[in-house]
Amino acid sequence: SSDLNMSEPTQLLYINSKEIFNMADYKIVLLKGDGIGSEIVNQAVKVLDKASEKFNFTVEYDEALLGGCAIDATGVPLPDETVAKCKAADSVLLGAVGGPKWDNQPGNNRPEAGLLGIRGALGLFANLRPAVIFEPLKKASPIKDEIIGGSLDIMIVRELTGGIYFGKRGRTEVDGQPAAWDTEQYSVPEVERIARVAFDLAMKRNKKLTSVDKANVLESSRLWRETVTRISKEYPEVELNYMYVDNCAMQLVRNPGQFDVIVTSNIFGDILSDEASMISGSIGMLASASLSESKSGLYEPIHGSAPDIAGLGIANPLATILSVAMMLRYSLDQPKAADAIEAAVTKVLENNRTPDIYEEGTNKVTCEQMGDLVCEAL
Ligand code: NAD
Repeated sequence: SSDLNMSEPTQLLYINSKEIFNMADYKIVLLKGDGIGSEIVNQAVKVLDKASEKFNFTVEYDEALLGGCAIDATGVPLPDETVAKCKAADSVLLGAVGGPKWDNQPGNNRPEAGLLGIRGALGLFANLRPAVIFEPLKKASPIKDEIIGGSLDIMIVRELTGGIYFGKRGRTEVDGQPAAWDTEQYSVPEVERIARVAFDLAMKRNKKLTSVDKANVLESSRLWRETVTRISKEYPEVELNYMYVDNCAMQLVRNPGQFDVIVTSNIFGDILSDEASMISGSIGMLASASLSESKSGLYEPIHGSAPDIAGLGIANPLATILSVAMMLRYSLDQPKAADAIEAAVTKVLENNRTPDIYEEGTNKVTCEQMGDLVCEAL
């Protein structure tokens, strides 16, 4: 405007555009889903709000339908509107989907099809699953104390959109008998991008990366190994080692403390991440993240919608709360807030438990009380 005092033009540059338009720093889409989904997501939102106050950022929420609730409302598990909202968001927080009510839907219209659909639509190629033992919950682990050592914190990075689950497959005949085949194929760019995610993570953690393959047998594993080796030159500070998948399965229960970050293919990661999650001993505690090439991601607990306890107010919200911590660390660049939430969870666990992780001598609390306690500890 001609009214502006042009002798001080630089002042204008310092006005934050988000303040002018009254915009939040981060836009999060909530996909509460089915079963215990809304109970646990509500607690996680409470904790995120508390963290935003403490660490001075603002969050704006929008909700969208996914899974059974979307089938009820629109006839399909993944409405177009949900995809559009998630694509426009900085991050997505998902509760869980599914339940007996929708078990008779045809395969491509089941709630779980919505889950696969949203992962595909957002291009989520990297799945991060931490296997963590919280000190107060050590007894819940099926692994002996002396094997666990102090505490345990492994991050499994699984390639999510390639490999044998997406390769060509078919039926044929061998020697006149029915037979079937599947193909494991990886391209160099596919391996490069998952390797970079893993190296970047290792840089933020203890700078140790184990690449897991079956290079003694599979050609696709040999390409995987060559590519990871080449990318490692970009990360001279990270100590890289290789392990065959069968050995890794064994080492995870023999000496889990040797691992920091593990990177592996879709099928090996599927199996190893389930094995590693059992080390923690409690399904209600485990978070996960799925990342795309842009920084946005989808964050969710690894458990399902627990229809057996839905509506009772006793679900454990900690896996979802810890998913928010991952979101803050990996998508929103708020590592201090992430650390604070994780520390608050560990502190609260010393004396308070939801029924799934209850131990004598601790207070048995509801889903909502657990959320409140984490907020207080924050
Ligand atoms: P589940 O993880 O929902 O439940 C397994 C057991 O763990 C149940 O006894 C449940 O009560 C308990 N549990 C799970 N989460 C809990 C929590 N936060 N607090 C306390 N207890 C908890 O697995 P399921 O029973 O095999 O599947 C139930 C439904 O969830 C199915 O429709 C399934 O398809 C779906 N599912 C969805 C996802 C997802 O949304 N990502 C993942 C797995 C299963």
